Amino acid sequence: MADLQERFRHAAAAVQNARALVITAGAGMGVDSGLPDFRGDRGFWNAYAMYERLRLSSVQAANPAHFECDPAFGWGFYGHRTNLYRETVPHAGFSLLREWIGRFGLDWFVVTSNVDGQFQKAGFEEERILEVHGSIHHLQCIRPCSQAIWENRETIPVDFATMRAGHIPRCLHCGAVARPNILMFGDWSWISDRTARQERRFDEFITDCRNLPLLVVELGAGTAIPTIRHTSEQLGRSGSMVVRINPREAQISPPHISLPCGALEGLRGIAAALNA
Ligand SMILES: [Zn+2]
Repeated sequence: MADLQERFRHAAAAVQNARALVITAGAGMGVDSGLPDFRGDRGFWNAYAMYERLRLSSVQAANPAHFECDPAFGWGFYGHRTNLYRETVPHAGFSLLREWIGRFGLDWFVVTSNVDGQFQKAGFEEERILEVHGSIHHLQCIRPCSQAIWENRETIPVDFATMRAGHIPRCLHCGAVARPNILMFGDWSWISDRTARQERRFDEFITDCRNLPLLVVELGAGTAIPTIRHTSEQLGRSGSMVVRINPREAQISPPHISLPCGALEGLRGIAAALNA
């Protein structure tokens, strides 16, 4: 695909011309690490046969009400995902981004809608990451009794036949059930303090970079929950170059660059053009 090669060269030139880099990422970033794609009920049920038997969609399985009514069932879904993300090895695209940061002396920040902690796992510093929907590796009280958010160091075995957890994490302060510090659908008790602190650091970063050529590399951010695309586009409107990498919804107007491919393929394509 000659056209795609040409676009990789344009994107490589944008990396070379940048002084600062904002990496924006959605669910598509995890697919190349082998994480399941929950797109549609079929994709979700292929990953979780138990929920297909119960005819529960991903939104229904993820419902925060389960932590109140049936915590072992609520933790079945989130415990499984916690274990999966702990075991996952971030794909080679993460190291390519870190390599560019070092090689071109880029100042940088990550903005992700993923709750999986994969950027931290790939060696990106916690202080330069904004997790807009929170993190599965952090817990809070379901009530909540306080604004406390703490790291999830608990082992949560899950029975795949019933999707029930064999251990329920508890609030460190009041002993009630604890839940992941993730913004869920229909969620009224998510504590946003940790994400708000990350947002302030990101705002400071953008202010500090206002006179630098800034490049946005957006990876696997779909239109279904458009927060990440909005962040990229907003930076694009204020003078940054945006490279949008997405196999299905890569559309963006020039001068921004659209790469209709997966995250790893896109990053490898740019890397090859940088080394040519
Ligand atoms: Zn509590």
